[in-house]
Amino acid sequence: QAKKGGRNRYCLFSHQLNEELRYLHELEQNLRAAVKEKSFELHYQPQYSLHTLKLVGAEALIRWPLENRQIPPDEFIPLAEKFGLINEIGEFVFETAIKQLSSWNDCPTPLPRMAINASSIQLLAGNFGAFVEGLLSRNKLSADRVDIEVTESVMMKNIEKNDSPDSTCLSLLQEKGLEISIDDFGTGYSSLSYIKHLNIDRIKIDKSFIDDLEFHREARSIVKAIIKMGHSLGLKVLAEGIETPNQLDILKQLDCDEGQGFLFSKPINAEKFRIKCLS
Ligand code: C2E
Ligand code: MG
Ligand code: MG
Ligand code: MG
Repeated sequence: QAKKGGRNRYCLFSHQLNEELRYLHELEQNLRAAVKEKSFELHYQPQYSLHTLKLVGAEALIRWPLENRQIPPDEFIPLAEKFGLINEIGEFVFETAIKQLSSWNDCPTPLPRMAINASSIQLLAGNFGAFVEGLLSRNKLSADRVDIEVTESVMMKNIEKNDSPDSTCLSLLQEKGLEISIDDFGTGYSSLSYIKHLNIDRIKIDKSFIDDLEFHREARSIVKAIIKMGHSLGLKVLAEGIETPNQLDILKQLDCDEGQGFLFSKPINAEKFRIKCLS
């Protein structure tokens, strides 16, 4: 009886595994096709000064429409990294976002700054710095209009490899005048030593801390400490994922500089962004 049950269970597992593998394989094929056809889109989420409530920038976020659904970037970006497709996707993202920023220059209120997410693999590719510089000059944009968002783990990798010549591209880009922000700050379990190694411009406090701000004193203490530390290091501090007026009030009280979140706006396509934020 037990043996039979075991075998059935094995069959069930192997069936599920098959399904899972089939799904991943299909996704990989679809992703390869999407990269070839560039069937991605960027949406833009506005970022505001919490002091003046004026628009200070936008974060470009990739969207992949597939048949009737949207595959979330948290799902396909790791796959793209695994299958060696992330550099091509990253090039599409940087090219599209920087062109967009430039094309909005003649709006009544041009966008001050575009924040673009970069994966570690992209940063370690030898030509990334030159690629971004080329984009900026072709689009006649000064470097300080672009902000590169990298996660803590990426910072650590960049520092560990700092003695190899192709890996210093973050510091190189920063010397050129681009801004560097640490994304999802507080979730990386990494040492803070990278902050003094790299000249970072901005800390983005992860949404999970903002979520708990209203109801947990601990979250409030942590956010307060991050903002204090950031300011004493001369950094700007931006809060991610602000959803309620109450969270906004608390962040203003704590002297947080900037913020983005559904309270202000969800990420929206370029046309909507132009109408809503730049006219
Ligand atoms: P992230 O860079 O931390 O981006 C913030 C995520 O939070 C976005 O999800 C955004 O839509 C979402 N968000 C913003 N405000 C709120 C809010 O108030 N409430 C809630 N519930 N969510 C909010 P999204 O667009 O699904 O992106 C997820 C992650 O995928 C990003 O996290 C980033 O790590 C990655 N990603 C997105 N676009 C790109 C890209 O072009 N290149 C790379 N390498 N990664 C990307
Ligand atoms: Mg980001
Ligand atoms: Mg984030
Ligand atoms: Mg994230």
